[in-house]
Amino acid sequence: MIHILTADVYNRIAAGEVVDRPYSVVKELVENAIDAGADDIAVEIEGGGKTLIRITDNGCGIASEDLPRVYLPHATSKLQSAEELFCINTLGFRGEAVASIASVSKMSVTSRTEGAEAFSLCCEGGVTGEIVPAAGDRGTEMKVEDLFFNTPARLKFLKSDAQEESDITNIMARFILSRPEIRFTYSVNGKVRYRSYGDGLAAALANVYGAETIENCYEICADKHGIRLRGFIGNQNFSKANRSYQSLFVNGRYVVNQTVSAAVTNAYASYLMKRQYPFYVLFLDLPSEIVDVNVHPNKADVRFADNQIIYGSVYSVISAVLDGNSRALEYLVRGERKETKRAERIPAADTVAARPAAEQPVVPQMSYAEAKKQVAFDLTPVKSGIAPQFLAPDDPPVLKVRQPDRKEIEDVFAENQRYLREKSVQEKIEPDTLLYKGELFRTYLLYETGDCVYLIDQHAAHERLIYNRLKKHIEERAVVSQPMLAPYVLTVNAQEFAFLQKQLPVLNEMGFDAEEFGGTSVRVSAVPAELKDISLESFFRDILGSLETLRAVKLADILKDKLASAACKAAVKGGEQLTEREARALIEETEGDMGLRCPHGRPAAVKVKRAELEKLFRRIV
Ligand code: ADP
Ligand code: MG
Repeated sequence: MIHILTADVYNRIAAGEVVDRPYSVVKELVENAIDAGADDIAVEIEGGGKTLIRITDNGCGIASEDLPRVYLPHATSKLQSAEELFCINTLGFRGEAVASIASVSKMSVTSRTEGAEAFSLCCEGGVTGEIVPAAGDRGTEMKVEDLFFNTPARLKFLKSDAQEESDITNIMARFILSRPEIRFTYSVNGKVRYRSYGDGLAAALANVYGAETIENCYEICADKHGIRLRGFIGNQNFSKANRSYQSLFVNGRYVVNQTVSAAVTNAYASYLMKRQYPFYVLFLDLPSEIVDVNVHPNKADVRFADNQIIYGSVYSVISAVLDGNSRALEYLVRGERKETKRAERIPAADTVAARPAAEQPVVPQMSYAEAKKQVAFDLTPVKSGIAPQFLAPDDPPVLKVRQPDRKEIEDVFAENQRYLREKSVQEKIEPDTLLYKGELFRTYLLYETGDCVYLIDQHAAHERLIYNRLKKHIEERAVVSQPMLAPYVLTVNAQEFAFLQKQLPVLNEMGFDAEEFGGTSVRVSAVPAELKDISLESFFRDILGSLETLRAVKLADILKDKLASAACKAAVKGGEQLTEREARALIEETEGDMGLRCPHGRPAAVKVKRAELEKLFRRIV
């Protein structure tokens, strides 16, 4: 039943968006189709969405008596009272989108509910026509033509067709990723651009980014503090040149959120260089009471009741996986993947069970083991064209038009997995088999093994080893602190002091001996042993400097990284002569991990194959 929100309810809804671009029309209408419980959604656009946008779904449909109301402002079937604003389980809730789209376009809605006939109703520039019988299956078709035909000013501000189209493609990729159980077909000017088959996240990821992407990712699933974090994150060597390869879905809604993005970025900080961005497709599922979706005009961000918990959970899960510490095993999804059956999905909360839109339940209500079972799925071969990449606005996705058959895709997956297995074997070498053969330029250590030689940057490798060791010590609360001969007194401004004061216990827990020292000063009389040679002044300036940007973040989390990277400065520099014994000790400590990177993301080991040398000497061609 669609009803009109009373003024006291809609006045509490964050000012809705102005539909100002074709992609926002697509976004709103696809959200409606999802809310209607559809599991098959087709999106067609022409002329960058300016000429035509047509969304067809097989959802619950709209009863003919409700049809006129879809065009009315504040008309919604998803929300009745203001209280419900605090537990929204649908993508839409404002009852505004269709009305505002209809006021600036030529729109028609054709819909059929279960057991009824199909009807259609047009609306041109906000003027509604007559309900007429129509043909159609169960579900709804929303057609939007000549967007902004009656608002030339807005039309003028649109970008070129190609750019509008690329923004729509962008949002469609996110929908495909966010709802891997829904079949999507997305066509541009009559040609299929994306097609997904509703067969799970791995397949959806392959549909959007290409099958090889999965092989460069860790699949994770972690339950922490009643929050579930799951999805795919790129490995340490898989970085992107911009942020467009980052997707976060909070309770199934695509959002861009500062807290989560800071947490992920910091977890990757020691693996990626400047201007390298991690790849991720992450789902954050949490009880709807602790996330406010009613904060952003485009519903493009959310507010968490507690940013620290979110930051801490995301950061600790991702850094555990990247650092490969023991908890990583708990978070990594591996082994036999099973298809998630629709019926096995998380049961909807009672309050939303009555609504068809709640078919995409989001509240984790299960044990960790169950949750894990839920998200584990088969690496079902993709059946659709594999689009290798997407997104940089000037770089529209390339679609392989020919559809590979099942066998071919299975081969690709098998091949990828073989490659990965080999790669991980290659990168992990039994240290005993590495023969130390000397050094070059007092910087690169040479180790021979079988048919190749590894060049190890002594500084980069040493840095990483110290970093890992210290991070581990901090985590295990086993930092050795070392008293200073002359205590260091740090004088800061009132605001910084208030912060430090609160954080003294954290500092002390991490191996400092710091105390208030009158006024706005803090006296440090012992430091973690690994830090004894660093400049405390720049260390603290660095910490206080990052607080501005990461106000909501636990100091302990920042400190862990800062401490470790400060300690790296004590690492052997390039140019220092190592004794043979030291060189051997270094390689022992790497445990043969030749995929090692320094904490700033530079590789610490480079492999040169014998064949490559032989090519240089033209022994082979
Ligand atoms: P909201 O999504 O915030 O409720 P909209 O303006 O987007 O507001 O949609 C208004 C109402 O129209 C929805 O509440 C829903 O009842 C109905 N509706 C819109 N699109 C669909 C659809 N594809 N299938 C079924 N019902 C729909
Ligand atoms: Mg809506």
